[in-house]
Amino acid sequence: MMNSKKIVLVTGGAGFIGSHICDYLLERDFKVICMDNLITGSLRNIEHIKTGDFEFINHNITEEITVNCNIDYVFHFASPASPIDYLQLPIQTLKVGALGTHNVLGLTKAKRAKMILASTSEVYGDPKVHPQTEEYWGNVNPVGPRGVYDEAKRFAEAITMAYYRQQGVDTHIVRIFNTYGPRMRKNDGRAIPAFISQALENKDITVFGSGKQTRSFCYVSDLIEGIFRLINSNYHYPVNIGNPDEMTILELAEKIKNFCNSKSNIVYHDLPIDDPLVRRPDITKAKTILNWEPKINFNEGIKKTIEWFK
Ligand code: UDP
Repeated sequence: MMNSKKIVLVTGGAGFIGSHICDYLLERDFKVICMDNLITGSLRNIEHIKTGDFEFINHNITEEITVNCNIDYVFHFASPASPIDYLQLPIQTLKVGALGTHNVLGLTKAKRAKMILASTSEVYGDPKVHPQTEEYWGNVNPVGPRGVYDEAKRFAEAITMAYYRQQGVDTHIVRIFNTYGPRMRKNDGRAIPAFISQALENKDITVFGSGKQTRSFCYVSDLIEGIFRLINSNYHYPVNIGNPDEMTILELAEKIKNFCNSKSNIVYHDLPIDDPLVRRPDITKAKTILNWEPKINFNEGIKKTIEWFK
């Protein structure tokens, strides 16, 4: 008997967002092939998965990808994605965004699958348009330290559109804004895991710069729902998925300190080079095309995340 379950490849499936995608798909009766080379992902993120519908392959997608079975969907989420990760792994970040995305597109075409690229709000750089709409081309420094990530993702979007336009591949692009939730690495350097672990240990909370820069944080389950709707849509241009609830980083630090009942002090460190001053998604497209909007507010999401970090 043929197995009628749809088969999905998740690149970066052992990472923070990738592992939540694996869970979402397995709950909905897909077979999942999780591919990861574990440079920033971790087997701990997938160790709870016990079903025979799940397979892990340790592979660096910068090298050719060979999968013997049929594939119906590809979620392309492999990349270092936190500022300290891509500063430490600049070449790998460029290679996975460029060569890795090329390999994923070649595989998607050969398998006649649907594919979604994990892009990022970083394509907008330090934005001069606020909130950011998908039509805004961005303000990116190609030779700054963040350029390795921003330009890799901009190239990844360009090659994805070329495969869509010239090769007729069924591609989709999600521009992911700041996302948080269980399975973020404690020491990945991002604001939310840093502040929660500092607050829980009553250590200094390290705000970079004045703390007046803003971000808008989306709980991971909302993000995954938007991604799933987008890959199943007929829309092939980039779509922002994020929560428009914007706050300053100092407000974020104070909220986390309060929710953790922490005695930490807030201290100020240097602002990293090219750190965007503001960031907030315009989600009109996601609302109209996907009928999607975030459901989990910040207080609810941050409580769940703090519980997980405990
Ligand atoms: N940030 C901070 N303290 C930290 C980590 C980050 O003040 O320990 C700031 C960072 O400078 C940026 C914001 O928090 O302005 C969000 O940083 P994150 O690394 O989470 O992601 P980004 O949005 O910059 O990619």
